[in-house]
Amino acid sequence: MRHTLPILLMLASFATEVHAQSPLRFQMYEGADPALFPNSILIMGEREAVLIDGQWWLSEGAKVAVEQSGRELTTVLITHAHPDHYTGLAPVLERFPDARVLARRAVQEVIRYEYPAKLRHWQELVPDEMPVEVPVPEIFDGDSIMLEGHEIRFVDLGPGETLHATAFYIPSASALVVGDLIFNGTHAYFADLDNPDIWIETLESLHDIGPIDTIYPGHGPAGGPEMIDAMIEYIAAYKSAAPPRTRVADIARAMTARYPDYRGAVLLWVTRGPGFGLSGAAELGVPPEVFPGPPPEEQ
Ligand SMILES: [Zn+2]
Repeated sequence: MRHTLPILLMLASFATEVHAQSPLRFQMYEGADPALFPNSILIMGEREAVLIDGQWWLSEGAKVAVEQSGRELTTVLITHAHPDHYTGLAPVLERFPDARVLARRAVQEVIRYEYPAKLRHWQELVPDEMPVEVPVPEIFDGDSIMLEGHEIRFVDLGPGETLHATAFYIPSASALVVGDLIFNGTHAYFADLDNPDIWIETLESLHDIGPIDTIYPGHGPAGGPEMIDAMIEYIAAYKSAAPPRTRVADIARAMTARYPDYRGAVLLWVTRGPGFGLSGAAELGVPPEVFPGPPPEEQ
């Protein structure tokens, strides 16, 4: 008994030493532009890895270089239930069939009940890029998972880009993987809630999570915590460009004029939901007596 304490102290200092010598490494794959460039973030320990979010297209999912990292993928975490973050996961899971896919219950349920509709919708546009089946995540309701002694903490977000979303905070790296609550240097997708006020409120709550050195957004390059305020400013600009009864075309024009260097302008055009805004009713063959289309543009 008398030796227990010194041994514990030794173990503790050993653990601290290992911890200090083995920081996690982060690698982000940014999807291709036509595939909406979602980010997949690979967090690597010495031997094992955790992936946060898959891709939208299968061919993009195949480019998430998990195998090349030399690590065993143990877990895939999903931030939210938009197809650009999970329908392209199959190529990763084929190589790591034992990896668990985890999400919060609310995220899991939206994926589970909505994915057939999402697949049918997108099969119209990119049939070869959509899987036949989607791996439905397991529900995870704990506080965090561990990767070789490093905590990856689940942060339940308020409403923002969508109703149910999770960010992941890694205290040992002061890193936050925030999903689509933040788009960095790209236009944002408003179609789900289109509620700038609540989105800004949820962004402000990020300041309470803990020290943040690096943010990995859902789309666009990684960067520092200043990304939070930049996103708040962007959403405030959207709010002033999109008062009630504003046509989507006018919103898109105002926002692309204000942020001319931003990628992803297509996301503004689908702000009333993917479909006519993206393909055009006439191109889809919708008879004009059923859907006359928007009024002619004002000059
Ligand atoms: Zn996304």
